[in-house]
Amino acid sequence: MSSVVLNPHLATLPVYVPGKPIEEVAREHGLKPSDVIKLASNENPLGPSPKALAAMEHVLRNLHLYPDGNSFYLKRKLAEKLGVEPANLVLGSGSNEIIEFLGHALLAPGDEVVVSQHCFAVYPIVTALFGAKLVTVPAQGFHADIPAMIRAVTPRTKILFLANPNNPTGTLTSRDEISRLLAEVPPHVVIAMDEAYVEFLEDPTDCLSLVRLGAQPNLVVMRTFSKIFGLAGLRLGYGVMAPMLASALEKVRQPFNINAIAQAGALAALEDSEHLANTRANNRLGLDYFHTALAQMGLEFVPSHANFVLLNVGDGARVFTELQKRGVITRPMASYSLPEWLRISIGTPAENARCMAALREVLGR
Ligand SMILES: *Cc1c(COP(=O)(O)O)cnc(C)c1O
Repeated sequence: MSSVVLNPHLATLPVYVPGKPIEEVAREHGLKPSDVIKLASNENPLGPSPKALAAMEHVLRNLHLYPDGNSFYLKRKLAEKLGVEPANLVLGSGSNEIIEFLGHALLAPGDEVVVSQHCFAVYPIVTALFGAKLVTVPAQGFHADIPAMIRAVTPRTKILFLANPNNPTGTLTSRDEISRLLAEVPPHVVIAMDEAYVEFLEDPTDCLSLVRLGAQPNLVVMRTFSKIFGLAGLRLGYGVMAPMLASALEKVRQPFNINAIAQAGALAALEDSEHLANTRANNRLGLDYFHTALAQMGLEFVPSHANFVLLNVGDGARVFTELQKRGVITRPMASYSLPEWLRISIGTPAENARCMAALREVLGR
């Protein structure tokens, strides 16, 4: 028997269930890793930018040195691209770490955090980690109910999280609703706008201009190199916010949280507009393909604005397992209280076609 007394929050802390790695699925089902495709974690099917790869190889010989603790060059380039100042930026090991920084900087037991039903799994985890209370606002037909989220704010609310587009639903909150949210949520509440998929949108709502103008001191815009930039394995994300809030988040991070390879890779990836354009075009094509194919099959799905699609297959766990036996990894949605549903990430045209063929076989259509 151990007499170690754990943090009591751990007993009820939700656990993040990631997409299954290709090697694990290959092992479990006796398949060759090269015959398994992963459409489970919204990764870039075209891989990382070749320019990023070259830049990263170049820094390997200097790995005996600590990285630049302030990521000077990366922050400067990112600030230039976004039209903000380096003082507006906080970098994290994935944007997941920015979410955790918000917890460190803002949350204590008794505080409240407002989210929408079907929100990204990391918000409830970080909320519970700091002993705060999660206030989940029912969605309306998979869309975040913005007026209801505004009404859910109390004097104890510290953070309101909204992903736009949202994962796992792929739904988009409109420009008008965002304006209303930013205008009506009281200034003591940090509005954490998670824009992990914003680069896939053709006409995104511009939240950064408010940061640029210093007009919204309670706004944090979060983005990542994990999705359109194809660098999920590197672990790099960032938050854009007023300098006051940025300095608070800078205080709670580890001194060298962004490694040297990540700094070099991201810096080069920001210059590769061709890779970005190719990825966007592949995604547009893939979304159209899935939307059309699923409609033809008569399957219920949520029209997506991101790089994945959420569909109702009746029994998500069964279909997930059957697809996996056929070498196609998808994401079951029971942990999002959607046991009938499956989330499929957009792949290359060949991967998408293989996934749909396997799905038709499994569902007998
Ligand atoms: C993928 C994703 C992220 C990014 O996670 P990283 O830690 O940057 O890899 C953040 N928010 C949402 C909603 C996501 O789907």
